[in-house]
Amino acid sequence: MSEKKIYDTAIIGSGPAGYTAALYASRANLETLVFQGFESGGQLMLTSEVENYPGYKDGVAGPDMMDDFEAQAARFGAEMRPDNVERVDLSERPFKLWAEGEEEPVLANTVIIATGAKARWLGLPGEQHLMGRGVSGCATCDGFFFKDKRVAVVGGGDTAMEEALFLTRYASEVIILHRRGEFRASKIMLDRASKNPKITFITDTVVEDVLGESSVEGVRVKNSKTGVVRELAVDGFFAAIGHEPATLLFKGQVEMDADGYIIQREHAMTNVPGVFAAGDVSDRRYRQAVTAAGDGCRAAIDVERWLDEQGEADHAEDPAIWTEDRETEGVITSTQNYLGS
Ligand code: NAP
Repeated sequence: MSEKKIYDTAIIGSGPAGYTAALYASRANLETLVFQGFESGGQLMLTSEVENYPGYKDGVAGPDMMDDFEAQAARFGAEMRPDNVERVDLSERPFKLWAEGEEEPVLANTVIIATGAKARWLGLPGEQHLMGRGVSGCATCDGFFFKDKRVAVVGGGDTAMEEALFLTRYASEVIILHRRGEFRASKIMLDRASKNPKITFITDTVVEDVLGESSVEGVRVKNSKTGVVRELAVDGFFAAIGHEPATLLFKGQVEMDADGYIIQREHAMTNVPGVFAAGDVSDRRYRQAVTAAGDGCRAAIDVERWLDEQGEADHAEDPAIWTEDRETEGVITSTQNYLGS
């Protein structure tokens, strides 16, 4: 009977963090598997135009950028599986990961958790009831359905501005509802939204519910200063109030903070030796594609060095160390590990 394969590292997640970790790990000769998930590519698949990822001087569509990331990681041998991981056992090594619907686990000596974050909902009854029938968390996905309609976007951060601006391509009017008078959004995004004639701001306003039977017909809002409650007629409702880490799968196995963000203990390593975290799962501050990519790089370098310390990475080459030998051997002929180039 053949022995079951044990990967050097299994990466869960296929956003910038996951793919960059895959690029660095596979290029360091580690046997690397990426669980991409059914919806591969992470949040960038929902992003229209990325203008702030270095290397793309004219900007790039989020999905195109993730295609580039995937192709670059695959070029160095990272194995891609378009499956969700349903269950993990991180109590002993090799770690066990079960792909959805499969009985036999995948075995890996290290795991990099790069499952990212997901859109947060307000938790209103109407939001649940009308999900997909006028309620959405993604303007890029659903904006098309609101041609010449009036829509509301909730939130005061960059996501809300971005969603509202995107919706102006289709909708006749976009109302940004924000619970405070000050905005978290960056000045440039706020300026763009303020200058757009299709966008109206209603501040100091809390959404109490989304109204409608079979589709969105309006929202009930309350002015937090005056206490006045009123109804606004809208055809669409977009929640754009931020994100929460997708870490439920690891609850009870890896240390997290109160909001579910994974805590990194030693560089990118979690409290479980051999389990690493990268990207939005452990970053509530920056949450950018470029910082997530940097995190993926750090995690892969930490994996390689940790395996080396355990005496388990004989065949690997430290991706962070440049040597003349490697250059003359032709290993380093150009900058092959910069994503986006
Ligand atoms: P964020 O900056 O945390 O903003 C979330 C917004 O939602 C805040 O205005 C918050 O209100 C509001 N909010 C939160 N919970 C709420 C609730 N229960 N009810 C009503 N409102 C609620 O999140 P984000 O906008 O997703 O941005 C996250 C990060 O990604 C930021 O660093 C941002 O710069 C970045 N980002 C950048 C771009 C870009 O550059 N193109 C696009 C998207 C995101 P309060 O202000 O009152 O707390």
